Amino acid sequence: MPDRAPQPVDRQLPTDEARDLISLVRDIAQREIAPQAAEEEDAGRFPREVFRLLSESGLLGLPYDSEYGGGDQPYEVYLQVLEELAAVRLTVGLGVSVHTLASYALATYGSKQQQVEHLPAMLGGGLLGAYCLSEPASGSDAASLRTKALRDGDDWVISGTKAWITHGGIADFYTVMARTGEDGPRGISAFLVPGDAAGLSAAVPEKKMGMKGSPTAQVHFDGVRVGDDRRLGDEGQGFAIALSALDSGRLGIAACAIGVAQAALDEAVAYATERRQFGKPIADFQGLRFMLADMATQIEAGRALYLAAARLRDAGRPFAKQAAMAKLHCTDTAMKVTTDAVQILGGYGYTADFPAERYMREAKVLQIVEGTNQIQRMVIARHLAGPEGR
Ligand SMILES: Cc1cc2nc3c(=O)[nH]c(=O)nc-3n(C[C@H](O)[C@H](O)[C@H](O)COP(=O)(O)OP(=O)(O)OC[C@H]3O[C@@H](n4cnc5c(N)ncnc54)[C@H](O)[C@@H]3O)c2cc1C
Repeated sequence: MPDRAPQPVDRQLPTDEARDLISLVRDIAQREIAPQAAEEEDAGRFPREVFRLLSESGLLGLPYDSEYGGGDQPYEVYLQVLEELAAVRLTVGLGVSVHTLASYALATYGSKQQQVEHLPAMLGGGLLGAYCLSEPASGSDAASLRTKALRDGDDWVISGTKAWITHGGIADFYTVMARTGEDGPRGISAFLVPGDAAGLSAAVPEKKMGMKGSPTAQVHFDGVRVGDDRRLGDEGQGFAIALSALDSGRLGIAACAIGVAQAALDEAVAYATERRQFGKPIADFQGLRFMLADMATQIEAGRALYLAAARLRDAGRPFAKQAAMAKLHCTDTAMKVTTDAVQILGGYGYTADFPAERYMREAKVLQIVEGTNQIQRMVIARHLAGPEGR
């Protein structure tokens, strides 16, 4: 077997603290995540203990306020941590991204009292979060969601089914978008629901093409009762909160995609320099050299794009268009690069003896989650040409 140890990416980081953080993440990734990744993905096993370790190490609340247990890190640093994690195992990188997404509504729109009460446990207390927007009949058209929250005195009673929920059935808290008023986007509110709430249950996880270690399941809300103190933001503000969370979440998906693509490129380079045909390494053939050069160039472009969007966000500037562009470009790049990596490994690339086929299966989902790449194009076009049908 060729030595396929990945070369660390040469990162431009803003502080010594960020450099230490990346070293810590690389250490955890190589010691605690990489050795089991292939086997556990095959077995469909979620690495709960890895998430506990990440929480203890301060890595589950990086972009949030340290007053509530967060890491006070700029997005450009947090995203590079995600990239490093996703490169060794997407289930972990994407899981951290989803946990961060699930914490967003409380961290950004919650009252001081709600934040003091719940955030420290979410950001550094070992809890794992889930984000519940999609439903069986509403995916891209998320504003048509039907899960209802009805007022009953000081409580809300939530009923309905959410679909495709990452960490569904194993999460400790669920950020849930439910209808509290009129049809359409203005009738939706956000709620923080504990994982052990009476009436909350999860279906058997979906059987997926990839990321098999990450449970994705329908979550049923059968008269789940929560106090009004668990409503996040204003009544009717839930959809705006959900979309605002996704602007940031998409950057997480972009970073994960570049991690997967980088891992595939590293593997392809290592293989191509070892494997010999026609008396020389296959990396000597220009047909493959050009493929490798294109793969590396698209990855660098993707990394630069997500970091540019992150730096806008860190500067408090609008970044939604750039986040959609980053998600689109980085996930399409991951699909192309991982497919090319399988090609470069030839027949071996098509077997589970090498991780290239896993990377290719993982890349596909990134073109679908948190807004399909068709939806990203719609978002970008709206920024360019205004809303459709004016
Ligand atoms: C592994 C996995 C994990 C997920 N995790 C979560 C999660 O944690 N929380 C959550 O809420 N959701 C989650 N999702 C759901 C995900 O966000 C949706 O699958 C996605 O938004 C697409 O919705 P859909 O599957 O219903 O497809 P649809 O919306 O039915 O789309 C089907 C096809 O039509 C296209 N399409 C739809 N509308 C348009 C349009 N206007 N113009 C052009 N093309 C269009 C789409 O791009 C797609 O190709 C997850 C999904 C997967 C697969």
